[in-house]
Amino acid sequence: MKGAVVFPGEHKLGVISDVPEPKLESPTGVKLRVLQVGVCATDREIASFVFGTPPPGFQYLVMGHEGFAEIVQTGPEATNLQPGDLVVPTVRRPCDDPACIPCRHDRADFCLTGGYREHGILGLHGFMTEFVVDEARYMRKVPVAIRDAAVLVEPLTIAEKAFIQAGQIQMRLPWNKPAAHALVVGAGPVGLLGAMALRVRGCQVTVYSREREPDPRAEITRAIGANYVSSQDRTPEQMAAGIGNIDLVYEATGNAQVAFSLLNVLGRNGIFIFTGVPGAHAPEGIDIGSLITNMTLKNQCLLATVNAGNDAFDRAIADLTEFCTRWPDAVRGLITGRFKLEQFETPMGVTAGIKNIIEMAS
Ligand code: BGC
Repeated sequence: MKGAVVFPGEHKLGVISDVPEPKLESPTGVKLRVLQVGVCATDREIASFVFGTPPPGFQYLVMGHEGFAEIVQTGPEATNLQPGDLVVPTVRRPCDDPACIPCRHDRADFCLTGGYREHGILGLHGFMTEFVVDEARYMRKVPVAIRDAAVLVEPLTIAEKAFIQAGQIQMRLPWNKPAAHALVVGAGPVGLLGAMALRVRGCQVTVYSREREPDPRAEITRAIGANYVSSQDRTPEQMAAGIGNIDLVYEATGNAQVAFSLLNVLGRNGIFIFTGVPGAHAPEGIDIGSLITNMTLKNQCLLATVNAGNDAFDRAIADLTEFCTRWPDAVRGLITGRFKLEQFETPMGVTAGIKNIIEMAS
Protein backbone atom coordinates (compact mmCIF):
# COMPACT_ATOMS: atom_id res chain seq x y z
CA MET A 1 0.00 0.00 0.00
CA LYS A 2 0.99 3.59 -0.40
CA GLY A 3 1.74 5.51 2.78
CA ALA A 4 3.04 8.93 3.81
CA VAL A 5 5.87 8.12 6.17
CA VAL A 6 8.60 9.60 8.29
CA PHE A 7 11.94 7.88 8.92
CA PRO A 8 12.92 9.56 12.22
CA GLY A 9 16.38 7.95 12.32
CA GLU A 10 17.32 9.16 8.85
CA HIS A 11 15.47 12.48 9.07
CA LYS A 12 13.56 11.61 5.90
CA LEU A 13 9.96 12.03 4.78
CA GLY A 14 8.29 10.49 1.76
CA VAL A 15 5.54 8.44 0.17
CA ILE A 16 6.43 4.75 -0.06
CA SER A 17 4.44 2.03 -1.83
CA ASP A 18 5.37 -1.06 0.16
CA VAL A 19 3.51 -0.53 3.45
CA PRO A 20 2.20 -4.07 4.17
CA GLU A 21 -1.59 -4.25 3.75
CA PRO A 22 -3.05 -5.30 7.12
CA LYS A 23 -5.29 -8.40 7.27
CA LEU A 24 -8.42 -8.62 9.35
CA GLU A 25 -7.76 -11.45 11.77
CA SER A 26 -9.54 -10.49 15.00
CA PRO A 27 -13.24 -11.47 15.17
CA THR A 28 -13.95 -8.10 16.80
CA GLY A 29 -11.86 -6.13 14.31
CA VAL A 30 -12.69 -4.01 11.29
CA LYS A 31 -10.87 -3.03 8.13
CA LEU A 32 -11.07 0.62 7.04
CA ARG A 33 -10.47 2.39 3.79
CA VAL A 34 -9.10 5.78 4.72
CA LEU A 35 -10.94 8.72 3.11
CA GLN A 36 -9.35 11.85 4.59
CA VAL A 37 -6.69 12.72 7.15
CA GLY A 38 -6.17 16.11 8.78
CA VAL A 39 -2.78 17.67 9.42
CA CYS A 40 -2.02 19.47 12.69
CA ALA A 41 0.90 20.96 14.58
CA THR A 42 1.77 17.55 16.06
CA ASP A 43 2.20 16.20 12.51
CA ARG A 44 4.40 19.14 11.62
CA GLU A 45 6.58 18.37 14.63
CA ILE A 46 6.79 14.71 13.65
CA ALA A 47 7.70 15.78 10.12
CA SER A 48 10.50 17.92 11.53
CA PHE A 49 11.77 14.89 13.51
CA VAL A 50 11.29 16.29 17.02
CA PHE A 51 8.57 13.79 17.91
CA GLY A 52 7.18 10.50 16.57
CA THR A 53 8.10 6.83 17.14
CA PRO A 54 7.71 4.01 14.58
CA PRO A 55 6.06 0.74 15.64
CA PRO A 56 8.47 -1.98 16.85
CA GLY A 57 10.32 -3.56 13.92
CA PHE A 58 9.79 -0.58 11.57
CA GLN A 59 12.25 2.13 10.58
CA TYR A 60 9.35 4.34 9.53
CA LEU A 61 6.08 5.62 10.97
CA VAL A 62 3.02 6.05 8.76
CA MET A 63 1.82 9.54 9.65
CA GLY A 64 -1.63 10.92 10.46
CA HIS A 65 -3.91 10.67 13.47
CA GLU A 66 -6.89 12.82 12.41
CA GLY A 67 -8.58 10.08 10.42
CA PHE A 68 -11.90 9.64 8.65
CA ALA A 69 -12.65 6.33 6.98
CA GLU A 70 -15.16 3.90 5.57
CA ILE A 71 -15.60 0.37 6.87
CA VAL A 72 -14.84 -2.20 4.17
CA GLN A 73 -14.83 -5.43 6.19
CA THR A 74 -15.96 -6.49 9.64
CA GLY A 75 -15.04 -9.45 11.84
CA PRO A 76 -17.91 -11.84 12.71
CA GLU A 77 -18.21 -10.35 16.21
CA ALA A 78 -17.96 -6.68 15.19
CA THR A 79 -21.70 -6.52 14.92
CA ASN A 80 -22.15 -2.81 15.64
CA LEU A 81 -20.58 -1.83 12.30
CA GLN A 82 -21.01 -2.86 8.70
CA PRO A 83 -19.29 -2.24 5.39
CA GLY A 84 -20.13 1.23 4.10
CA ASP A 85 -20.36 2.79 7.58
CA LEU A 86 -18.39 6.01 8.02
CA VAL A 87 -16.16 6.20 11.09
CA VAL A 88 -13.59 8.28 12.89
CA PRO A 89 -11.02 6.16 14.73
CA THR A 90 -9.82 7.32 18.12
CA VAL A 91 -6.07 8.00 18.41
CA ARG A 92 -4.73 6.41 21.58
CA ARG A 93 -4.50 2.73 22.48
CA PRO A 94 -4.09 1.40 26.03
CA CYS A 95 -0.87 0.36 27.76
CA ASP A 96 -0.38 -3.27 28.80
CA ASP A 97 -0.10 -2.76 32.55
CA PRO A 98 -2.90 -4.71 34.30
CA ALA A 99 -2.75 -2.13 37.14
CA CYS A 100 -3.48 0.86 34.88
CA ILE A 101 -7.11 1.50 35.78
CA PRO A 102 -7.79 4.11 33.03
CA CYS A 103 -6.40 1.84 30.29
CA ARG A 104 -8.29 -1.17 31.61
CA HIS A 105 -11.48 0.89 31.35
CA ASP A 106 -10.92 2.17 27.80
CA ARG A 107 -9.73 5.55 29.07
CA ALA A 108 -6.20 5.45 27.69
CA ASP A 109 -6.46 9.25 27.39
CA PHE A 110 -5.83 9.23 31.17
CA CYS A 111 -3.17 6.45 31.06
CA LEU A 112 -1.18 6.30 34.29
CA THR A 113 1.95 4.56 33.05
CA GLY A 114 2.80 6.52 29.89
CA GLY A 115 2.98 3.16 28.09
CA TYR A 116 0.09 4.02 25.75
CA ARG A 117 0.48 4.11 21.97
CA GLU A 118 -0.96 6.61 19.52
CA HIS A 119 -1.76 6.09 15.85
CA GLY A 120 0.56 8.12 13.66
CA ILE A 121 2.44 9.48 16.67
CA LEU A 122 3.75 6.90 19.08
CA GLY A 123 4.43 3.24 18.30
CA LEU A 124 1.49 2.64 15.92
CA HIS A 125 1.15 3.44 12.24
CA GLY A 126 -1.19 6.28 11.39
CA PHE A 127 -3.91 6.81 8.86
CA MET A 128 -2.10 8.32 5.85
CA THR A 129 -2.29 5.00 4.03
CA GLU A 130 -4.91 3.08 2.08
CA PHE A 131 -6.23 0.52 4.58
CA VAL A 132 -6.12 0.19 8.36
CA VAL A 133 -7.16 -2.72 10.58
CA ASP A 134 -8.19 -2.04 14.15
CA GLU A 135 -10.66 -3.14 16.80
CA ALA A 136 -14.28 -2.07 16.24
CA ARG A 137 -14.51 -0.58 19.72
CA TYR A 138 -12.10 2.20 18.74
CA MET A 139 -14.35 3.34 15.88
CA ARG A 140 -16.88 6.13 16.36
CA LYS A 141 -19.67 6.06 13.80
CA VAL A 142 -20.30 9.25 11.84
CA PRO A 143 -23.62 10.21 10.18
CA VAL A 144 -23.53 10.60 6.39
CA ALA A 145 -24.84 14.17 6.86
CA ILE A 146 -21.42 15.33 8.09
CA ARG A 147 -19.33 13.36 5.60
CA ASP A 148 -17.71 16.56 4.27
CA ALA A 149 -16.71 17.78 7.74
CA ALA A 150 -15.97 14.55 9.63
CA VAL A 151 -12.21 14.99 9.31
CA LEU A 152 -12.67 17.81 11.85
CA VAL A 153 -13.95 15.44 14.54
CA GLU A 154 -10.56 14.61 16.04
CA PRO A 155 -9.39 18.22 16.56
CA LEU A 156 -12.81 19.00 18.04
CA THR A 157 -12.41 16.17 20.57
CA ILE A 158 -9.66 18.19 22.26
CA ALA A 159 -12.22 20.89 23.08
CA GLU A 160 -14.91 18.37 23.97
CA LYS A 161 -12.71 16.56 26.48
CA ALA A 162 -11.71 19.92 27.94
CA PHE A 163 -15.31 21.12 28.29
CA ILE A 164 -16.53 17.82 29.76
CA GLN A 165 -13.91 18.21 32.49
CA ALA A 166 -14.54 21.94 32.91
CA GLY A 167 -18.25 21.20 33.40
CA GLN A 168 -17.42 18.67 36.09
CA ILE A 169 -15.00 21.01 37.84
CA GLN A 170 -17.45 23.90 37.79
CA MET A 171 -20.02 21.74 39.59
CA ARG A 172 -18.08 23.11 42.58
CA LEU A 173 -20.12 26.28 42.08
CA PRO A 174 -23.41 25.47 43.81
CA TRP A 175 -25.51 27.48 41.34
CA ASN A 176 -23.80 25.52 38.59
CA LYS A 177 -24.52 27.75 35.63
CA PRO A 178 -22.58 27.34 32.40
CA ALA A 179 -19.70 29.75 31.77
CA ALA A 180 -21.24 33.03 30.64
CA HIS A 181 -18.10 34.54 29.14
CA ALA A 182 -15.50 32.39 27.49
CA LEU A 183 -12.24 33.46 25.92
CA VAL A 184 -10.67 31.34 23.20
CA VAL A 185 -7.02 32.08 22.60
CA GLY A 186 -5.77 31.19 19.13
CA ALA A 187 -7.93 30.95 16.02
CA GLY A 188 -6.50 27.74 14.58
CA PRO A 189 -8.76 24.71 14.07
CA VAL A 190 -8.64 23.64 17.74
CA GLY A 191 -9.53 27.18 18.84
CA LEU A 192 -12.27 27.82 16.30
CA LEU A 193 -13.89 24.40 16.80
CA GLY A 194 -13.74 25.03 20.54
CA ALA A 195 -15.39 28.43 20.00
CA MET A 196 -18.20 26.75 18.07
CA ALA A 197 -18.70 24.20 20.86
CA LEU A 198 -18.91 27.02 23.40
CA ARG A 199 -21.42 28.96 21.27
CA VAL A 200 -23.60 25.84 21.02
CA ARG A 201 -23.55 25.76 24.84
CA GLY A 202 -24.83 29.33 24.93
CA CYS A 203 -21.62 31.07 26.03
CA GLN A 204 -20.64 34.54 24.90
CA VAL A 205 -17.34 33.92 23.20
CA THR A 206 -14.38 36.15 22.37
CA VAL A 207 -11.64 34.76 20.13
CA TYR A 208 -8.27 36.45 20.71
CA SER A 209 -5.70 35.71 18.08
CA ARG A 210 -2.72 37.16 16.26
CA GLU A 211 -4.22 37.78 12.81
CA ARG A 212 -5.48 41.25 12.03
CA GLU A 213 -8.76 41.74 10.21
CA PRO A 214 -9.72 41.25 7.45
CA ASP A 215 -8.94 37.58 7.97
CA PRO A 216 -10.94 34.39 7.32
CA ARG A 217 -10.49 33.38 10.98
CA ALA A 218 -12.19 36.57 12.10
CA GLU A 219 -14.97 36.03 9.56
CA ILE A 220 -15.64 32.52 10.83
CA THR A 221 -15.62 33.84 14.40
CA ARG A 222 -18.23 36.47 13.58
CA ALA A 223 -20.33 34.01 11.56
CA ILE A 224 -20.80 31.88 14.69
CA GLY A 225 -21.85 34.90 16.73
CA ALA A 226 -18.59 35.36 18.61
CA ASN A 227 -16.41 38.43 18.98
CA TYR A 228 -12.94 38.63 17.41
CA VAL A 229 -10.02 40.65 18.80
CA SER A 230 -6.53 40.71 17.29
CA SER A 231 -3.63 40.62 19.72
CA GLN A 232 -1.90 43.07 17.36
CA ASP A 233 -4.57 45.67 18.19
CA ARG A 234 -5.22 45.08 21.90
CA THR A 235 -3.20 43.82 24.84
CA PRO A 236 -4.80 41.04 26.88
CA GLU A 237 -5.88 43.63 29.48
CA GLN A 238 -7.43 45.94 26.87
CA MET A 239 -9.25 42.99 25.30
CA ALA A 240 -10.51 41.75 28.68
CA ALA A 241 -11.75 45.19 29.70
CA GLY A 242 -14.54 44.86 27.13
CA ILE A 243 -15.78 41.56 28.53
CA GLY A 244 -17.36 40.86 31.93
CA ASN A 245 -15.93 38.30 34.32
CA ILE A 246 -14.09 35.78 32.13
CA ASP A 247 -15.35 32.43 33.40
CA LEU A 248 -13.35 30.22 31.10
CA VAL A 249 -10.19 30.61 29.04
CA TYR A 250 -9.56 27.94 26.40
CA GLU A 251 -5.96 28.27 25.31
CA ALA A 252 -5.20 26.73 21.93
CA THR A 253 -2.05 28.44 20.68
CA GLY A 254 0.75 26.14 21.80
CA ASN A 255 2.70 29.32 22.57
CA ALA A 256 3.93 29.29 26.16
CA GLN A 257 4.33 33.05 26.52
CA VAL A 258 0.92 33.88 25.08
CA ALA A 259 -0.71 31.22 27.23
CA PHE A 260 0.88 32.53 30.39
CA SER A 261 0.15 36.18 29.68
CA LEU A 262 -3.55 35.35 29.43
CA LEU A 263 -3.69 33.90 32.95
CA ASN A 264 -3.99 37.48 34.23
CA VAL A 265 -7.34 38.07 32.57
CA LEU A 266 -9.11 35.00 33.97
CA GLY A 267 -12.01 36.08 36.17
CA ARG A 268 -13.13 35.05 39.61
CA ASN A 269 -14.03 31.35 40.02
CA GLY A 270 -12.74 30.89 36.51
CA ILE A 271 -11.11 27.93 34.86
CA PHE A 272 -8.12 28.17 32.55
CA ILE A 273 -7.56 25.33 30.10
CA PHE A 274 -4.21 24.53 28.50
CA THR A 275 -4.32 22.37 25.36
CA GLY A 276 -1.03 23.36 23.74
CA VAL A 277 2.25 21.47 23.88
CA PRO A 278 4.83 24.26 23.54
CA GLY A 279 7.84 22.14 24.55
CA ALA A 280 10.93 23.41 26.33
CA HIS A 281 11.23 27.15 26.52
CA ALA A 282 13.78 29.60 27.86
CA PRO A 283 12.82 30.74 31.38
CA GLU A 284 10.70 33.90 31.56
CA GLY A 285 10.81 36.48 34.32
CA ILE A 286 7.51 35.60 35.96
CA ASP A 287 6.42 36.75 39.40
CA ILE A 288 5.21 33.37 40.59
CA GLY A 289 4.16 34.74 43.98
CA SER A 290 1.70 37.21 42.47
CA LEU A 291 0.48 34.56 40.11
CA ILE A 292 -0.35 32.09 42.87
CA THR A 293 -1.79 34.82 45.12
CA ASN A 294 -4.05 36.04 42.35
CA MET A 295 -5.22 32.55 41.49
CA THR A 296 -5.91 31.66 45.10
CA LEU A 297 -7.78 34.88 45.91
CA LYS A 298 -9.96 34.34 42.87
CA ASN A 299 -10.72 30.60 43.38
CA GLN A 300 -9.24 29.88 40.01
CA CYS A 301 -8.54 26.52 38.50
CA LEU A 302 -5.92 25.47 35.98
CA LEU A 303 -6.67 22.46 33.80
CA ALA A 304 -4.34 20.90 31.26
CA THR A 305 -5.74 18.27 28.95
CA VAL A 306 -4.57 15.96 26.18
CA ASN A 307 -6.10 13.38 23.85
CA ALA A 308 -9.73 12.25 24.19
CA GLY A 309 -11.90 9.27 25.09
CA ASN A 310 -14.99 7.83 23.42
CA ASP A 311 -17.27 10.25 25.27
CA ALA A 312 -15.49 13.27 23.76
CA PHE A 313 -15.51 11.70 20.29
CA ASP A 314 -19.26 11.09 20.52
CA ARG A 315 -19.87 14.64 21.73
CA ALA A 316 -17.69 15.95 18.90
CA ILE A 317 -19.72 14.03 16.31
CA ALA A 318 -23.00 15.33 17.78
CA ASP A 319 -21.68 18.90 18.02
CA LEU A 320 -20.21 18.88 14.52
CA THR A 321 -23.60 17.77 13.22
CA GLU A 322 -25.11 20.79 14.99
CA PHE A 323 -22.39 23.15 13.68
CA CYS A 324 -23.06 21.93 10.12
CA THR A 325 -26.74 22.78 10.55
CA ARG A 326 -26.19 26.18 12.16
CA TRP A 327 -23.11 27.42 10.31
CA PRO A 328 -22.47 25.31 7.18
CA ASP A 329 -20.30 27.98 5.52
CA ALA A 330 -18.19 28.59 8.61
CA VAL A 331 -17.53 24.86 9.00
CA ARG A 332 -16.65 24.58 5.30
CA GLY A 333 -14.34 27.59 5.70
CA LEU A 334 -12.21 25.74 8.26
CA ILE A 335 -10.80 23.38 5.62
CA THR A 336 -8.55 25.66 3.59
CA GLY A 337 -6.15 23.24 1.93
CA ARG A 338 -6.71 19.87 0.25
CA PHE A 339 -3.73 17.79 -0.83
CA LYS A 340 -3.14 14.44 -2.51
CA LEU A 341 -1.12 11.84 -0.63
CA GLU A 342 1.86 12.51 -2.92
CA GLN A 343 1.77 16.17 -1.86
CA PHE A 344 1.68 15.50 1.87
CA GLU A 345 5.00 17.21 2.54
CA THR A 346 3.54 20.60 1.57
CA PRO A 347 1.16 20.94 4.55
CA MET A 348 3.89 19.53 6.80
CA GLY A 349 5.80 22.76 6.23
CA VAL A 350 4.66 26.17 7.38
CA THR A 351 1.47 26.85 5.46
CA ALA A 352 -1.11 29.56 5.38
CA GLY A 353 -4.74 28.73 5.99
CA ILE A 354 -6.60 27.03 8.80
CA LYS A 355 -6.93 23.25 8.39
CA ASN A 356 -5.10 21.29 5.72
CA ILE A 357 -6.24 17.79 4.86
CA ILE A 358 -4.98 14.89 2.79
CA GLU A 359 -7.57 13.38 0.45
CA MET A 360 -6.88 9.65 0.42
CA ALA A 361 -9.96 8.36 -1.40
CA SER A 362 -13.49 9.55 -2.19
C1 BGC B 1 -3.43 14.64 19.32
C2 BGC B 1 -3.68 13.83 20.57
C3 BGC B 1 -2.38 13.31 21.13
C4 BGC B 1 -1.41 14.47 21.32
C5 BGC B 1 -0.07 14.05 21.91
C6 BGC B 1 -2.39 15.70 19.57
O1 BGC B 1 -2.10 16.34 18.37
O2 BGC B 1 -4.63 15.25 18.88
O3 BGC B 1 -4.55 12.76 20.28
O4 BGC B 1 -2.63 12.66 22.35
O5 BGC B 1 -1.21 15.11 20.08
O6 BGC B 1 0.58 13.05 21.18
